[in-house]
Amino acid sequence: MDFNLTEEQRTLQTMVKEFTKREIEPIADQLDREGRLPDDLIGKFAQIGLLGMTVLRKYGGSEAGDLNCLLAIEQLAYSGTGAWWLVGFNNSIPECISGFGSETIREQVLQSFCDGTAYASVQFTEEATGSEPAMLTTTCVPDGDSYLINGMKRFSTFGARDGYAVTYTKDEEGKCTAFVIEKRGKGYSAPKIWELMGGGGIEAADVYFEDFRVPKQNILGKKGGGMEVLSPWIATEKLQQCAAATGMAQAALDEAIKYLKTRTSKGRPISEMQGVRWMLAEMEAKIEACRWLTYKTGFTKEQGHGNWQTEAAATKVFVMPAAAEVVEMSRRLHGAYGYTREFKIEKLYRAIAGCSVIAVSLEVNKSIVGASLAR
Ligand SMILES: Cc1cc2nc3c(=O)[nH]c(=O)nc-3n(C[C@H](O)[C@H](O)[C@H](O)COP(=O)(O)OP(=O)(O)OC[C@H]3O[C@@H](n4cnc5c(N)ncnc54)[C@H](O)[C@@H]3O)c2cc1C
Repeated sequence: MDFNLTEEQRTLQTMVKEFTKREIEPIADQLDREGRLPDDLIGKFAQIGLLGMTVLRKYGGSEAGDLNCLLAIEQLAYSGTGAWWLVGFNNSIPECISGFGSETIREQVLQSFCDGTAYASVQFTEEATGSEPAMLTTTCVPDGDSYLINGMKRFSTFGARDGYAVTYTKDEEGKCTAFVIEKRGKGYSAPKIWELMGGGGIEAADVYFEDFRVPKQNILGKKGGGMEVLSPWIATEKLQQCAAATGMAQAALDEAIKYLKTRTSKGRPISEMQGVRWMLAEMEAKIEACRWLTYKTGFTKEQGHGNWQTEAAATKVFVMPAAAEVVEMSRRLHGAYGYTREFKIEKLYRAIAGCSVIAVSLEVNKSIVGASLAR
């Protein structure tokens, strides 16, 4: 057992940390205000090798692996913005298409995710459900060599951007079938982008399909086997959320330390008080636990361990409340200023609130782990 990151991994961490400081932190307020990422950011991510890290080289990826991708996401999320989502999606979604798509589809779409010319999306959630596949109402109906898709999808991140999405539908037999679709053309529209509480730049869109035509060869996995496609993708997304929450918690601790060193009480910096130091110690311990549990599950996935998806659910069950508590402790340590918009902690507080509800709620993850244990 070796808990040391490799030299290459430490270099990656430093490189992404510097990138975040230089390219993301200065526009954090702008992302919050506009709710949209700058158009050139995807190209910059591609240039520094953060897209397609889990995709094979022959399709334009770097084969850097899951753990490296999580390390990058952790550093990007330190900014308290939603910029890391772009790296998350342009890794996990091409990985999903690579695993379940035909060779034709792979050759058609994977390269564009890796070189930053296409935004990846996933479209599962609908108006009536985000947790229950049986309730999907978007339909696909065969029509010659194609299917016609009708319905709507909610909160499709980057659904209004050019590129490709993995879309989940109910087929003519009532089963869940997944397709790769191009997010443009007749019958596709994304008129609304939701204003979010935090995580500036996530760009969650409502998407409408009206007789949208998609070739039969674009089915991912087996027809009717959409859940087999969704399940590993969503477990990967959970791990990404955990890495991001760890990065946000680390930022919250760093902000608290910085603040407490300059703020005084009874003529001394508040950081010298024992009660405050105990809070800092608890925060540090929680962050380390979140970090290493996330890395370990990422490593388990990379090694192809059979149970990694349940482990990802268990990781989320631990990390989300622990990381959110660290952020809340930092907010309290900032006193009244933690309730203002002047300090970064306010941004982190709003950003981390999303992690526990997105990509399967905390409660549903508990049900997954509990069911696996009690079976
Ligand atoms: C910023 C953002 C980006 C998103 N991006 C995407 C995206 O790109 N693609 C996409 O498809 N979706 C996306 N989503 C949707 C998100 O993943 C879902 O909203 C999420 O899965 C929760 O679904 P829901 O809101 O319908 O919750 P519901 O299923 O309505 O659940 C509501 C509450 O009931 C609880 N609950 C529900 N079922 C159970 C159960 N069986 N046992 C115990 N408790 C239960 C839940 O824990 C939750 O507390 C995004 C959401 C946001 C906010």
